[in-house]
Amino acid sequence: LANKKFHPEPTKVKVGNVIIGGDTTVIMSGPCAIESRKQLLDTAHAIKKAGAHILRGGAYKPRTSPYAFQGLEEEGLSYMKEAREETGLPVICEVTSLNAIEAAIKYVDMLQIGARNMQNFYLLKEAGKTGLPVLLKRGLSATIDEWLNAAEYIIAEGNPNVVLCERGIRTFETATRNTLDISAVPVIKSKSHLPIIVDPSHATGVRSYVKSMSMAAIAAGADGLMIETHPDPSIALSDGPQSLSFEQFEDLTSTLKPLINLL
Ligand code: PEP
Ligand code: MN
Repeated sequence: LANKKFHPEPTKVKVGNVIIGGDTTVIMSGPCAIESRKQLLDTAHAIKKAGAHILRGGAYKPRTSPYAFQGLEEEGLSYMKEAREETGLPVICEVTSLNAIEAAIKYVDMLQIGARNMQNFYLLKEAGKTGLPVLLKRGLSATIDEWLNAAEYIIAEGNPNVVLCERGIRTFETATRNTLDISAVPVIKSKSHLPIIVDPSHATGVRSYVKSMSMAAIAAGADGLMIETHPDPSIALSDGPQSLSFEQFEDLTSTLKPLINLL
């Protein structure tokens, strides 16, 4: 079902009033974790002003350490809904369990399956059953075929609204948090009709590399970007080193605008 051979037309995924896989490069942005109502609403207004199309924010955080901030859960989801009402931006949130899915469907426009759950087949099926658009991140060490098979699980539930997200893979290199597999963009385009976006924030783990990798993603033909932003990255509860300030995000979107219009 994810294979281009049996479905040559590119799939367009509608999230609220935004189309992913259409003519515009869709920019999703927001904090790694929703930390407070004010932090989320301030971010929503700032990214909208800078030209972003969709607000992201984590309410259930799959942290490497069990002692790190785990997210505001349903309280965070309610702030997402409020941010959508205030700004009109559709909202996306990661789900890590069936409970999280049941809560998230009351508040968000798109579900995110994170890298660590890419092969959680039970979760994929449950996300598929909701009918909501799903952003499926590539697993930390997943091949492209494994990733497309994960997408197949969602589509097989009767939900064709899947967007793939390349967010870097594990390699021997340690200068960046992960290694951005930019060639995944043309490979996916050759094998599948599904839209693909790139997340240079998690791929590099370093804020100063986000702009060049965003430009590379657009040049490679990505349908969108996911960029982490925070009102003050120095005090972020998660992923501060890779998060952009509002000023840096505005600088990024103004650099990208002419590139996006050219394509
Ligand atoms: C995230 O988007 O905040 C996240 C945890 O990403 P990933 O699953 O790609 O690590
Ligand atoms: Mn993050």
